[in-house]
Amino acid sequence: LPEPEVEALQHADVAGLLPEPTASSDKYRRGVVGIVAGSAQYPGAAVLAVAGALRGGAGAVRYVGPAADSVLARHPETLIGPGRVQAWVIGPGLGEGRAGEVADLLAQDTAVLVDADGLRGLDPAVLRARTAPTLLTPHAGEAAALLGVSRESVEAGRLAAVRRLAERYGAAVLLKGSTTLVASAGGRPVRVNPTGTPWLATAGSGDVLSGLAGSLLAGGLSGADAGAVGAYLHGLAARRTGGPLLAQQVAEALPAAWRDAT
Ligand code: AMP
Ligand code: MG
Repeated sequence: LPEPEVEALQHADVAGLLPEPTASSDKYRRGVVGIVAGSAQYPGAAVLAVAGALRGGAGAVRYVGPAADSVLARHPETLIGPGRVQAWVIGPGLGEGRAGEVADLLAQDTAVLVDADGLRGLDPAVLRARTAPTLLTPHAGEAAALLGVSRESVEAGRLAAVRRLAERYGAAVLLKGSTTLVASAGGRPVRVNPTGTPWLATAGSGDVLSGLAGSLLAGGLSGADAGAVGAYLHGLAARRTGGPLLAQQVAEALPAAWRDAT
């Protein structure tokens, strides 16, 4: 039989991928995730990305950027400043003019998740040359900009769009929205997340997802698996919370969602 073009993400697949600690785990072996997010205008995006990352199973979260005071006030667990990490998340609330920081991270041989403002002006050749895992997490508008097409055409053909993005950028791609799709660079079937809820259409929920998926990337998952498992847990956490929900509540419900997923 030919491989299907799409498949629903299954509970058993997610349960098998969750990076659970073992007796021999320590915080470094569980993975450190670095968050480059936030700006004077959008400090909250940094706080929310860190909130998601802290509950994504990594052993530690490191924050680099101008919102360190806000991040520490909410999350004293956070390490501040550059250092060794297993995966970087760059983009939420970054604002304009930070493309150099994105380029610096993409030049390293470390897993990277790029979201939001980090997706501005990405060079397909730079991404394709990378060998470490790379995950892009655009919504339809960001996907349209990456493909040079209209937002309407992405919405009209979300499956084709996510596949084309993964192929063009040589990266795993999580396309957010009413149905969340995850494509891998290798042309595997596109996975559809079944757990979403429209209550997630609220400010900051995407920032929580980027931190969460980055944490899973730091835990050793591939780009596509980190995106798929992240979207699955994010949806479960939102459903547990119900609506109207706050993005921070989605982050707070992640431990319960993790239990639901095992
Ligand atoms: P962002 O666009 O970065 O703010 O992220 C929004 C988050 O909410 C993503 O996880 C989307 O998949 C999710 N989302 C937005 N709209 C909907 C919707 N109508 N149904 C389900 N999930 C949604
Ligand atoms: Mg966003």
